[in-house]
Amino acid sequence: MLIDIKGLQDERFERPLRLIANLFFEECQISLEKETDSPIVVAFAIKEEDKISVEATLTEKDTKKAYTYTYTKEVTAAENDKEYFKQVKNAVSHAYLQVLQNYTGIVQKWGILTGIRPTKLLHNQNKLGKSAEETRKNLRKNYLITDEKIDLMQRIVDRQLTMVPDLYDLQKEVSIYIGIPFCPTKCAYCTFPAFAIQGKLGKVSSFLSGLHYEMEEIGKWLKEKNVKITTVYYGGGTPTAITAEEMDELYERMYDVFPDVSNIREITVEAGRPDTITPQKLEVLKKWNIDRISINPQSYTQETLKAIGRHHTVEETIEKYHLARAMGMNNINMDLIIGLPGEGTKEFEHSLIETEKLMPESLTVHTLSFKRASEMTLNKEKYKVAGRTEVEQMMEMAERWTAKHAYVPYYLYRQKNILGNLENVGYSMPGQESIYNIMIMEEVQTIIGIGCGAASKFIDPKTGKIEHFANPKDPKSYNDRFVEYTNKKIDILNQLF
Ligand code: SF4
Repeated sequence: MLIDIKGLQDERFERPLRLIANLFFEECQISLEKETDSPIVVAFAIKEEDKISVEATLTEKDTKKAYTYTYTKEVTAAENDKEYFKQVKNAVSHAYLQVLQNYTGIVQKWGILTGIRPTKLLHNQNKLGKSAEETRKNLRKNYLITDEKIDLMQRIVDRQLTMVPDLYDLQKEVSIYIGIPFCPTKCAYCTFPAFAIQGKLGKVSSFLSGLHYEMEEIGKWLKEKNVKITTVYYGGGTPTAITAEEMDELYERMYDVFPDVSNIREITVEAGRPDTITPQKLEVLKKWNIDRISINPQSYTQETLKAIGRHHTVEETIEKYHLARAMGMNNINMDLIIGLPGEGTKEFEHSLIETEKLMPESLTVHTLSFKRASEMTLNKEKYKVAGRTEVEQMMEMAERWTAKHAYVPYYLYRQKNILGNLENVGYSMPGQESIYNIMIMEEVQTIIGIGCGAASKFIDPKTGKIEHFANPKDPKSYNDRFVEYTNKKIDILNQLF
């Protein structure tokens, strides 16, 4: 799909208009000024006086049917051109969203908001001392977010502050993400650094020696600077894809080199693929007091698992869940994905019925997203997925089911190219929320990424400014250059702390 845009020459409009168009049409591109064979054209007329007034007219080229909307807003004092442009962009986005809504009949519950962390907006308003009512008014007025979504954001923020009352004071601490880039096989929707472990055993051991080195150096720095660790999260890949002995050595090293590990608020290990879980590995997790694990069914329909390349059975998920429970794991998260190929409300209902028999402490409900590099996106025609209405119905089913079973939503994020422009929501039994998930979503503190593909996010404790840094995604490049990457991170940390 392509949309012709008239009346906006400034190239800075391209991105926001494209992101909004993508809320309505799949992979939509826009053409500023140049006439194409697009079926629709949106013409803008902007008046800038003491107020900014934007008139948008969408015309269907074939039928000449037109939809017009005018949006007017007060101009607030702007320090520079960038600030002023933001105000014009906001007015343009309002008018544009309205004509697209009128044309398609689709109402965007998140309004013009295309960012991935809506709850951060609410935290920012909180920090500015705004009341809940003022915040609601601002979100409605500035972003056209519906009350339903504002309610969800408010519940999540309240929950996060109950779980982590010192959330706004954690900028002087850090969390650690440790990436283990191996999995038994690669799932079709996956864009994580995940390499099929079979036949790569040589690489696993050299990867782990690099990882041990990074942990040691970062641990030394934390001890020297007296910086506390809030949470540790082992992800990947599947951190339980390595052997029980390798896991044991890894956690032993963590206790040796990181400061005050017994006082870290939460240590999570993703054991996402049930086919990696063994009694020996669960023993190791218990031995090192790992607080939380994830066992991810994604779906309880066998054909779906096969279609997406997860080479394990539904029974294995259930069996490994019971095994983990029997061996004392008492904070288990499970992930479900809405809109997997071939799945509709019937299959999703089945997944919820099966989840009800297990009752994990937390349940993360993702909506399928077509990420650019995944097998699924590259071969989209092979994978038939549910339409927007059905995806919405499944999301509502998840909301009803979790509410009925006393789960509360505690974090959410949105992605680009997500089915139905919905969101991913983490639900949890009260008190069992993952603190790491709150840290990463709300960007309140630095997260140091260690290991393959691990992304670090450095947050200046004084200004809140964010700097990203990523380790290489494949084990070979990681093994060649882990010393250099570790030093770079320590340099950045030295500037911030
Ligand atoms: S288990 Fe997770 S990390 Fe591994 S291939 Fe599948 S989606 Fe990717």
